[in-house]
Amino acid sequence: MNKSLILVVEDDRSVQNLMTTTLKAHDYRYLTAMNGETAILEASSHNPDIILLDLGLPDLDGIEVIHRIRSWSNVPIIIISARSEDADKVEALDAGADDYLTKPFSVEELLARLRATERRLTMMKGDQTTSSIFVNGNLKIDFSAGCAYLEEEELHLTPIEYKLLCLLAQNAGKVLTHTFITQKIWGHSWDNDVASLRVFMATLRKKLEKNSDSVQYIQTHVGIGYRMIKV
Ligand code: CA
Repeated sequence: MNKSLILVVEDDRSVQNLMTTTLKAHDYRYLTAMNGETAILEASSHNPDIILLDLGLPDLDGIEVIHRIRSWSNVPIIIISARSEDADKVEALDAGADDYLTKPFSVEELLARLRATERRLTMMKGDQTTSSIFVNGNLKIDFSAGCAYLEEEELHLTPIEYKLLCLLAQNAGKVLTHTFITQKIWGHSWDNDVASLRVFMATLRKKLEKNSDSVQYIQTHVGIGYRMIKV
């Protein structure tokens, strides 16, 4: 099987070496870039399947790199960042990143994220057989088309946000625990996943609940999980 081509954007040589060694050991093909301008150039000339992007680069801000790549490509971008603040992650996800890893991360974590992204890519390419439509208030999900609408307007969701919304919708009315959700989304449930879940839930909510007086579709259960409310 032809393994994915990964573009590794990282200016810290030791971190870059760790990633490329891991990729090589698992038969991935890869390209590297030490700064944002090179990353954009490599992405446009080689069409990688997945981009691993460090946010703190010497020339451009990682967020700027995401914006520029997103202007012409939907390639999955996984942020690799030392910044632990949720605000940076939300900003990167809002800019169009698909997922993220926080430094320091384990090799297993990196590989798991890559596999999850590859599964999503395969799913998106493959044909979907279910053709049901979910409706809850002004929210509509067309599972066969892979689209969600709010007040007849299509919602622009990242793959993970869409997966979360479908998961919540298919279990509407039920409280889903952090562990359940992270297992379904990433295939495992580490502490980092629960932190990630909070970030993805925040960005999803921002899109569903545009105004402060909008209908609340997702209920938070502190320390437990989330529930989609039937409105
Ligand atoms: Ca850096």
